[in-house]
Amino acid sequence: MKNKFYITTPIYYTNAKPHIGHAYTTVAADILARWNKSQGKDVFFLMGTDEHGAKIQKKADELGKSPKEFVDEISGEFKSLWNDLKISYDNFIRTTDEKHIVAVSKMLQSIYDAGAIKKGEYEGLYCVGCEQFLNESDLVDGKCPDHNTVPEKMKEESYLLDMRSKQDELIGKIESDEFEISPERYKKEVLAFLKNNELKDLSISRKNVQWGIPLPFDKEYTTYVWVDAFINYLTGIGWDGNIENIPEKWPADVQLIGKDILRVHATIWPIVLMYLGFPLPKRLFVHGHILSGGKKMSKTLGNVIGIDEMLEKFGVDGTRYLLMGAGTFGEDVDVTMERMIEKYNSDLANGLGNLVSRVIKLREGDDEIKKEIKPVADMSSYFSNMELGHGLEFIWNMISEDNKFIEENKPWELKKTDQEKFRSVMEKLITDLHSISELLIPFMPETSEKIKRALEEGKTEILFQRIK
Ligand SMILES: [Zn+2]
Repeated sequence: MKNKFYITTPIYYTNAKPHIGHAYTTVAADILARWNKSQGKDVFFLMGTDEHGAKIQKKADELGKSPKEFVDEISGEFKSLWNDLKISYDNFIRTTDEKHIVAVSKMLQSIYDAGAIKKGEYEGLYCVGCEQFLNESDLVDGKCPDHNTVPEKMKEESYLLDMRSKQDELIGKIESDEFEISPERYKKEVLAFLKNNELKDLSISRKNVQWGIPLPFDKEYTTYVWVDAFINYLTGIGWDGNIENIPEKWPADVQLIGKDILRVHATIWPIVLMYLGFPLPKRLFVHGHILSGGKKMSKTLGNVIGIDEMLEKFGVDGTRYLLMGAGTFGEDVDVTMERMIEKYNSDLANGLGNLVSRVIKLREGDDEIKKEIKPVADMSSYFSNMELGHGLEFIWNMISEDNKFIEENKPWELKKTDQEKFRSVMEKLITDLHSISELLIPFMPETSEKIKRALEEGKTEILFQRIK
């Protein structure tokens, strides 16, 4: 399929409500999807929820609900948040969808028939928080660094996927960028891990977890939740589990993930694909975490910033702007409510909002001024390099230059003293505003619409109300 752009976010785990970190990845994916659409690409944007596993079973039990009731609720909350944030997704997949379950089951049977899955005994350190076995070398002071808990020693009869046989081939594909992992430091990190550790067999089954997809060749076991989850990237574009039927949208052009799930996405996922004989994703892009006041957000520290709180304060586009404008996409970014309010007031209320209202008011009653649109600045390199925060900075440079230009030229005086100069000043400003409204489409779709309407109708509302 030519000219396609298939982008995914991780499917989010439904053990708790959506938070700012989910919104961060999702808004970034939405910006990339909208940009590619504006470039005439045939875009498919997949997202969804990951709904099986021990953690969910346990949570539902605690609440006296069935796991399905529980995940229905949480999955619904994710969906409604994405609607609030104006996320332009094409499909929302749930791993409890019947079609997904059937496909995972077929897929496992094929790999089993090919001899890559064998029954054996697995012993390891299991973190329930991660839902995965950890290596000794992953632990910090004997604890999972992401969950700050001591993993349980677990030993059980298990079905094991041979990972070692594909290890060298995987290293080759990462080195050659056939399977590109970026930013570069994450590629290096994965390669260092793969070169210094022999991949152990992966346990793909769980004996005591009922809330999962039963193994087709042994119904006493359910499928390890990560293996189940990865397949969404295929079933979400209609794959039926038959290895002859590679979906035409596959491979993914970009898969966005947070750095905490890099290891599994760079080992288990590509190796499963290699067993299926499918091409690997073209690009795995890894981003950092959102910190609050330099620390991981946590209830105990009291530094959690809720995504609902942001939406209420800053509106949809304000929230999208502040998330993506928080720093370099790819690295950890640090936010505080105080700084976000400051940025909202200076960049949105004063910067953009002020520019739009001044230009529209100055033009009032003068329809002679040309409405010509010059070709907008080329921002494609920002998108291909995933420099979304820098893309916004580029637009905001234009905005502050224009505000400066207004102060220097004082068009309200020129209007009375020098009509010719007034016209030329206004023509530049209106042309720039057209460009700005175009450039904002992927980032702030509603604001872009409002500016276009204001230019069209010659009047404007207040775009961003100052926050005290
Ligand atoms: Zn953990």
